[in-house]
Amino acid sequence: MATRVVDVLVPVALDQAYSYRVPEGLELAPGDVVTVPLGARGETTGVVWAENPNPNPRIHNRMKDVVGKHDVPPLKSELRTFIDWVAGYTLSSRGMVLRMALRMGEHLGPARERVGVRLGGPPPARMTTARTRVLHLFADGMTRAKGDAAKEAGVSIGVVDGLIDEGALETVVLPPEKVTLPPDPDLAKPEFFLGQLAAADALRTTVSQGGYTVTLVDGVTGSGKTEVYFEGVAENIRKGRQTLILMPEIALTGQSLDRFTARFGVRPAEWHSQLSPRTRARTWAAVASGEVSVVVGARSALFLPYADLGLIVVDEEHDAAYKQEDGAHYHARDMAVVRGSIAKIPVVLASATPSVESEVNARRGRYRRIHLPERFGGAHLPTIEAIDMRREGPPRGRFISPKLADAVGQTLERGEQALLFLNRRGFAPLTLCRACGFRLQCPHCDAWLVDHRFKKRLVCHHCGYNTAQPEACPNCHATESFAPVGPGVERLHQEAADLFPDKRILVLSSDLVESMERLRQELDDVAAGRFDIVVGTQLVAKGHHFPKLNLVGIVDADLGLGNGDPRAAERTFQLLHQVVGRAGREEGRGVGLLQTHQPDHPVMKALILGDREAFYSSEIALREASGYPPFGRLASMVITADDRHAAEGYARALAQSAPRHDDVRVLGPAEAPVAVVRGRHRFRLLVKAPRDFNLSGYLREWLVVAPKARGSVRMQVDVDPQSFF
Ligand code: ADP
Ligand code: ZN
Repeated sequence: MATRVVDVLVPVALDQAYSYRVPEGLELAPGDVVTVPLGARGETTGVVWAENPNPNPRIHNRMKDVVGKHDVPPLKSELRTFIDWVAGYTLSSRGMVLRMALRMGEHLGPARERVGVRLGGPPPARMTTARTRVLHLFADGMTRAKGDAAKEAGVSIGVVDGLIDEGALETVVLPPEKVTLPPDPDLAKPEFFLGQLAAADALRTTVSQGGYTVTLVDGVTGSGKTEVYFEGVAENIRKGRQTLILMPEIALTGQSLDRFTARFGVRPAEWHSQLSPRTRARTWAAVASGEVSVVVGARSALFLPYADLGLIVVDEEHDAAYKQEDGAHYHARDMAVVRGSIAKIPVVLASATPSVESEVNARRGRYRRIHLPERFGGAHLPTIEAIDMRREGPPRGRFISPKLADAVGQTLERGEQALLFLNRRGFAPLTLCRACGFRLQCPHCDAWLVDHRFKKRLVCHHCGYNTAQPEACPNCHATESFAPVGPGVERLHQEAADLFPDKRILVLSSDLVESMERLRQELDDVAAGRFDIVVGTQLVAKGHHFPKLNLVGIVDADLGLGNGDPRAAERTFQLLHQVVGRAGREEGRGVGLLQTHQPDHPVMKALILGDREAFYSSEIALREASGYPPFGRLASMVITADDRHAAEGYARALAQSAPRHDDVRVLGPAEAPVAVVRGRHRFRLLVKAPRDFNLSGYLREWLVVAPKARGSVRMQVDVDPQSFF
């Protein structure tokens, strides 16, 4: 009799599935999570990808047996198709993509048993005060977890164990703790005003009808987008199906979870990089079993094994943080749309500043649009003015212009808050020797060292290298000759403290965040008015609601422009619009002041005139004329090596091997804007193709004929690249 054979995909950087024999008596079907032997690694967890009715007879004898099957629900064909699709599109190996779906660590399997304790037999002969306290506690007849009981009675675990040994207490197995409780879709439905009402109705209908659709909820900051998409979520909960709400990682702070809790009565399950391994494993299993109804998560939540996913919401869909840039390079917003189409479910994209891609899709009717043009409760959108730094700038060595300082002063006098925004971490981006002009540079990268005074370190933002400031200039040996050049948030903090000596100032910057909990606390403190001035990087741009914040000063509005990134204008517009949108969300008029050297730049003009449509129209026209996304397709290939010569040589050979195609242009190789990172020299190729061209297929053919990368040379393909450094 022929042995059954299955092909198993394993979560390592391999594209092909391996064949294994199925031992007698083991029931297996595609999707089952199994343990298999794998080379020198010993054993690994994998997933049955397919039956293999015609295994290659030549390898039949060398084939190994499946070791066993895990007691978890199988990965549905929907998820397996998605994994194949993402791998094919991004040119990642399927094993690497599978790894994202199996991110539950080694804790796979039935939940760890929880042991409870309750009153058992008679009290022991030898009593102590500690024992008395414990027995007193249990006199109420309740069952408690052992640790909880010890804590409540104020004794050590040993005391509880002693009482168990002597039979005074007995142990029982507790049911596993739930990851989340079922949300109540009708708990706290808000009363919608006119525009919201129609929007909420439309979303409810979209979700209740089901099927694959993409809806862009496009509403100005403070218009109630969250409340509106919650109606879609409520409808999906009523249908008994699971919902995924994707957020940029940093937005997964308290406020959004609290709002969910206020609306639905329970906290959603969370999924992000900071979960403990145990919570990760329990959440994974609870999502697979269908116990969890709603997941609020960062991009990797797309790969969870939902039992019955019925709706995906992508909040702040324009956010660049949705692009993953290590391992498999994928864009979570785009892949959410793909997952929605495979699962045949609605996808909702929400933003006050949609990506140009989504805006074009909405204009062309490929996406439905739900528009919320007004702020909730009659709040006004902030008025925005430019401060022309060429004429009204601050004195040398200062960064806050007199006009901005005045505005901050007046805001604080009214008892309101001000935000000074500068998208630059640290004290100063460059440190220079005044004696000889020498600049302190990273020894491993083509980058300046950034002065971080709070930490008293000079840090490379590319590789993390850090060092104390040297005593003397390494070049001319002058002492006390170092001068900071340019501002970072820490330097701005110093300037604000000089200008407003008795005000409470908070610096918010990702490098200063000790933990998600701490950040949540600080954001709550700002919302509660416990600070007067916030100095922040883009950490403060996202979704937060600060009722007392009425002035936003953009310290360097030009910072993101002109860095050679085709999305520079779009990014700057989105970021500044979002940041200024933090102002005036409740009482009073919000004001945004942009310090700029280019007040006539289209981005500044659109912001000042509040003319979003004008910005999109001109940006879309530019993209169309130049064939940039979404009117054309791009892929980048980044070649790195230990020495410049090897990197450049391989990049040239690679470019030369490109299959000829009338529609495709291969640009480069060119040295990357950041030419060295971590001691590796970098070259780039850019591949441009028309919109409907199968770029992934073309790249795959190319890689087959491409020369082998030897020695230290590495090459990374990025389809739809977002970063061009
Ligand atoms: P957006 O996501 O568009 O910036 P939010 O959903 O955060 O807007 O809404 C802004 C503020 O207005 C929030 O505090 C929200 O709770 C409140 N809000 C919006 N719509 C309503 C409503 N219909 N009833 C009560 N509060 C609302
Ligand atoms: Zn470095």
